[in-house]
Amino acid sequence: MPKVERPYCRLCGSPELASVVDLGASPPCESFLAEAELDAPELTHPLHLRVCPNCFLVQLPPLIDPVETFTEYAYFSSFSHSWLKHAEEFVTAAVDRLGLDGSSFVVEVASNDGYLLRNVVERGLRCLGVEPSVNVGAAAREAGVPTLTAFLDPETGAAVRRKHGPADLVVANNVYAHIPDVLGFSRGLRELVADDGWVSIEVQHLLSLIELTQYDTIYHEHFQYYTVATAQRALATAGLAVVDVEKLPTHGGSIRLWARPEAVAGEPSDRMRAVLAEEEAAGLHELRGYRDFAERVERVRLALLEFLVRTKRRGELVVGYGAPGKGNTLLNHCGIRPDLLPYTVDRNPYKHGRYTPGTRIPIFEPERIARDRPDYVLVLPWNLRAELTAQLGYVAEWGGRLVFPIPELEIVVPEREVS
Ligand SMILES: [Zn+2]
Repeated sequence: MPKVERPYCRLCGSPELASVVDLGASPPCESFLAEAELDAPELTHPLHLRVCPNCFLVQLPPLIDPVETFTEYAYFSSFSHSWLKHAEEFVTAAVDRLGLDGSSFVVEVASNDGYLLRNVVERGLRCLGVEPSVNVGAAAREAGVPTLTAFLDPETGAAVRRKHGPADLVVANNVYAHIPDVLGFSRGLRELVADDGWVSIEVQHLLSLIELTQYDTIYHEHFQYYTVATAQRALATAGLAVVDVEKLPTHGGSIRLWARPEAVAGEPSDRMRAVLAEEEAAGLHELRGYRDFAERVERVRLALLEFLVRTKRRGELVVGYGAPGKGNTLLNHCGIRPDLLPYTVDRNPYKHGRYTPGTRIPIFEPERIARDRPDYVLVLPWNLRAELTAQLGYVAEWGGRLVFPIPELEIVVPEREVS
C-alpha cells in the first residue's frame, strides 16, 4: 500500500478540508483496456472532491503522478478541428490586444503538438513551447515549433528566461488544473514572463461545474478546479495579479484569465468584477455554495439509473455515443456496466476494440449505431450537444432518441433540434 498523507490544502496548507462530493473509487479516466487486459486487476483511486474552508480552492488528492500521465501522452490537440480554430483566433486576438510584433517573444506551457504556437511562428514572432510529453513535443518540432521537453517549475522557468530572455506573453491553456504543484507552477510562470509582460490562462470554470452539475468533469487528470477568486489567490503567491477575465464556452464553461506582474497590473477590469460578483452570488466564496452539490449529483445518478433500468425492463436497446474521459467518471460512479449499456461508440480508432476503464463497456466504431437501430443513444460528451444532435440526426429515421444525462436527464428527438 502506498503511504497515504492526510489531505491538506495545496494552496494555503490548511489541514481542514471539507467534502464537496465523494464519487467513490475509479481508475484513471484515459486508461482504456485492451481485450487481453480484461482478466487483469485494475488499480482504482478515490475520487473525493474537497474544498478548503480557508482559501476555497476545490481540489482532488494528488494520487496520480502527472509525469506518468503525460510523459507519453495520447492526446494530440491538432486532431480537433474546432480546437485549432479556437487557437488561431486566440493568437490573432492576443497579437492585437498586446501589440505584439517581430521583437516579441511568446512562450506556451503545455504546448502539445504546436497547435497554437504554429500561428505565432507564421506571424514571424519568436516563440518557445514547453511540453512534458516526449512524443507530442517531437511532433511540434517537426512542424517547425521550437519546443523544450520539460514540466514547468521555477527552475525550468528561470532557465528559459536566462537562455531566451523574458516572454512578452506566456500562454497556459488547459494545464492549470492538471498540475498538483500549483505554487511551483505559478512561480514558474512568473519566472517566464517579462516584468511588463502578460500571462494568459484558460481553465474550466468551477462556477459552470457547480451550477450545471457537470460532475463528470471531475477526474484524476485534474487536481483542482478554479473560481476567478481562487485562481487570483494562487497566482498572487507568485506575484502575479489577475486583471481581466473572459468567459468561454469550451469544456462546458471555461475562463480565460489575463494576469500581469503586480507592479504593472493596475486595476481589474469591469468584466472581471462582474464574474467575481457572479461567483459570490452563487456562494462559491464561502462554504454555502458547495453544500447541496453532492445531493444534486445523486439526483443525476438516480435519474440515469432509473431510465436505464426502466428501458431494460421494457426490452428496449440503449447504447452509448462517445468514450470521453469524463464519460468514465459518470459510468463508474453510476455503476453502469454492459448489462445496462451493452456498448458505446467513438470516432477515435485507437479506442475501437477497447473497453472503458472500470466498467469494461466495449467501444465500437460509430457505424454500429445505424446497423443496430437502438431505441436510445446515451450521449456521453454532452458538452458537444449542438454538434452531436445534428450529427446523430439519422437516429430519428427509426424513431430513436438521444439521451443527455447532464445537467439533468433529458430525452430528445434529434430531428427537432436540427435546423
Ligand atoms: Zn486552502
